[in-house]
Amino acid sequence: MAESERRRGTAAHEHVRVAVIGSGFGGIGAAVRLRREGVTDFVVLERAGAVGGTWRDNSYPGCACDVPSHLYSFSFAPNPDWPRAFSGQEHIREYLERVADTFRLRPHIRLDTEVLRASWDTERLLWELETSRGALTADVVVSATGPLSDPRTPDIPGLTSFPGKVFHSARWDHGYDLRGKRVAMVGTGASAIQIVPEIQRDVRRLTLFQRTPPWVLPRADRAITGVERWLHRQLPFTTYARRGLLWGIRELQVQAFTKRPNELGLVESLARRNMARAIKDPALRAKLTPTYRIGCKRILLSNSYYPALAQPHVDVVASGLAEVRGSTAVAADGTEAEVDAIIFGTGFHVTDMPIADRVVGDDGRTLMETWKDGMKSLRGASAAGFPNFLTVIGPNTGLGNSSMILMIESQLNYLADYLRQLDVLGGRAALVARPSAVNAWTRRVQDRMKRTVWNTGGCTSWYLDDHGVNTTIWPGTTTEFRAATRRVDLNEYEVLRPPARRTAPGSGRKAEVTA
Ligand SMILES: Cc1cc2nc3c(=O)[nH]c(=O)nc-3n(C[C@H](O)[C@H](O)[C@H](O)COP(=O)(O)OP(=O)(O)OC[C@H]3O[C@@H](n4cnc5c(N)ncnc54)[C@H](O)[C@@H]3O)c2cc1C
Repeated sequence: MAESERRRGTAAHEHVRVAVIGSGFGGIGAAVRLRREGVTDFVVLERAGAVGGTWRDNSYPGCACDVPSHLYSFSFAPNPDWPRAFSGQEHIREYLERVADTFRLRPHIRLDTEVLRASWDTERLLWELETSRGALTADVVVSATGPLSDPRTPDIPGLTSFPGKVFHSARWDHGYDLRGKRVAMVGTGASAIQIVPEIQRDVRRLTLFQRTPPWVLPRADRAITGVERWLHRQLPFTTYARRGLLWGIRELQVQAFTKRPNELGLVESLARRNMARAIKDPALRAKLTPTYRIGCKRILLSNSYYPALAQPHVDVVASGLAEVRGSTAVAADGTEAEVDAIIFGTGFHVTDMPIADRVVGDDGRTLMETWKDGMKSLRGASAAGFPNFLTVIGPNTGLGNSSMILMIESQLNYLADYLRQLDVLGGRAALVARPSAVNAWTRRVQDRMKRTVWNTGGCTSWYLDDHGVNTTIWPGTTTEFRAATRRVDLNEYEVLRPPARRTAPGSGRKAEVTA
């Protein structure tokens, strides 16, 4: 195909320089960064009918961030008007909509466009994307489909014949009235502990199925005063100072999580006191006290969770939901509860992200097949065998105690430099991570992981994959990750060029490697 034709695409077949998948913080951030780098030939493909990702899909009662808003927002789009220290879902969603408008991203965003398949063309050195709204090709694909975007509902025997209502926290059914109902809440993670205090006010009976209790610390939430907001608007540096302080505190905490988990004992006593203030019944306190080191699972923040559990119409079953018999929810320990509705707060497909099954690399294997022994990518971004394919929030880029937006922005720095490197190379070129570089990076990450609380704290968490390997969390500070993703090191990549001439049938289709 001639270069001009390739750029223009055909009527049925559009070509772009960059295709971004997803419009949460990752995809919207990538779009802003592309525009700032002078790249205008890009699209953002979003399967839903609006932008917002996590903050569009999670509309359950009480949904809010658990990192202060001034840190849980883009550094390039400070918001002086955050209403609370920890703002609610609607405000965060509005913020993302505003960022899309302010940075004039709308013409690039294709809503209701689900990416069904992305396959690397080894001869033309481009990605062929099949979407629910037709096909297109792209030089570079940025996958920002989110680590927590596809809800996971456990396969519970008998669930399909349950006569009542069933839904997942990330797909809240606002048409269903919980007032006066007997409700089973399954799970005790970040979403469940926000939901429980809200719905217990309305329901007749609430039964919480708890496989493992979380550690819960008080939440220093409050309304941000009019004076503070006025100050942030008049003197923008005060917003930056506030953000800087919030960031610095969390950077200082990282050592305890990554190198000295024993120091976290002090934090455990704070959490125990938080529980004791609300839970007077020693038997209930025993059920709610974790047996693993604090921090091993995500530390949760709430002032209302324990008071809600102390209510007489709330039961805590210290066992997971194992079976549903008619309208009876049965726990693994045999406890039974008659219920009208079952709400799953059981998390997401994290280490088996669905997009991986749809992306086909240079050897015809999907990312899911390539990652069957565990997810691994160079600097959380590039998987071996997947040229010009970058993930935002890829393997080992999650955080246990700070804002994911910091990690997303680091990955966007890497994306920007990646595109610059391709420009410098000139002509048709692609970069593919060397397997040796991917392995070296993974070894480095996993070596550091050994001492961390996530690996040594004595818990099973969603940070670990089916093999018990932590492929989710970054075992360092956000500053270290920022430094590691500032530049693309070309020594870690092979440069691909289109084959000089067509190879004979059966002799392989791989592009020439020129690095
Ligand atoms: C309830 C909840 C609270 C959270 N609170 C915090 C917090 O306080 N602090 C924090 O740091 N992190 C928090 N997180 C983590 C949060 O997921 C990240 O901070 C961040 O929002 C992720 O952004 P993202 O753009 O990577 O993914 P998402 O926001 O999940 O966006 C991914 C987008 O990709 C789209 N998509 C997926 N597959 C396809 C496809 N095949 N084709 C087209 N589009 C597709 C989805 O529809 C979605 O819009 C929270 C997560 C949840 C669920």
